[in-house]
Amino acid sequence: MQIAIAKLRLDGGTQHRPLDDAALEEYESLFRDGSKCPPVSVIHDDGTYWLYDGFHRVEAARRAGLDDIEADVQGGGRRDAVFLSFGANAGHGVRRRPGEVAAIVRALLADPEWGAMSQGRIAKAVKCSQGTVSRVLSDSTHARMSRGPVVGLDGREYSTENIGRPVDRLGNRLDALTGKRADNVRRVFAEAGTIDGLVRDLGRIKTKVLSQHQAGDRLYAALNEKMWIADTANALAALTGTRPYAVCPRCNAGGCDGCADRGWVTRLTYEAMQKAMTDSCAHESR
Ligand SMILES: [Zn+2]
Repeated sequence: MQIAIAKLRLDGGTQHRPLDDAALEEYESLFRDGSKCPPVSVIHDDGTYWLYDGFHRVEAARRAGLDDIEADVQGGGRRDAVFLSFGANAGHGVRRRPGEVAAIVRALLADPEWGAMSQGRIAKAVKCSQGTVSRVLSDSTHARMSRGPVVGLDGREYSTENIGRPVDRLGNRLDALTGKRADNVRRVFAEAGTIDGLVRDLGRIKTKVLSQHQAGDRLYAALNEKMWIADTANALAALTGTRPYAVCPRCNAGGCDGCADRGWVTRLTYEAMQKAMTDSCAHESR
């Protein structure tokens, strides 16, 4: 339909980049020549027309002295217009530059509801590749973590000065290791986050079942609460206990009996080794 340009609201937070002068000039002369441009996209919300795709076309038509412009109009609210604007110009009009696409992904991620969507859904909304979404996400995680110490799963604060560098849970740098088992140690710590994820999943399952049972959900009526708590606590302890913790303090990734020739140790083994060292030092100084 034809819609009066004066009626369009351009201030709904649906514009994600500045207008490009060269494109405006080209569109303006097209309009002056009487050429047709593809319709712009508008959300009609109870008398208000939110423009979410076609900012260049609208501005060029205005400069060419036109009063109306061809528009695709659908019902909705301003928030719908903002959501649809993330995918605007993906396949037509003034093409988006890669840096602009990343900025649009960041704008979407800043919204609590939309930012919680899966990477696939975000990619679909922005009409970009999932690789772009995951790059922006890891960049922003990196930026967030670089601001100060982070709190680990164990509740302790960890310095962020080694962010981007592979380290063990004690902050020992892994890229400088030279021992025979150094590659094994680096590989293991690169994958160790998988265990943290499983520990979180298991914790969620534990809590979910328990709260359903306690809320009187008949599906869990036969649950033995005490056993469930004890068994899941054991499973969590067993899983947490297998997590790679530190480069073996005895062989420094060279391989020894203490670390079963792995070059790395769990927290329990590490603490036992530390205690053994302290004890023998105390013994020698007597
Ligand atoms: Zn060792």
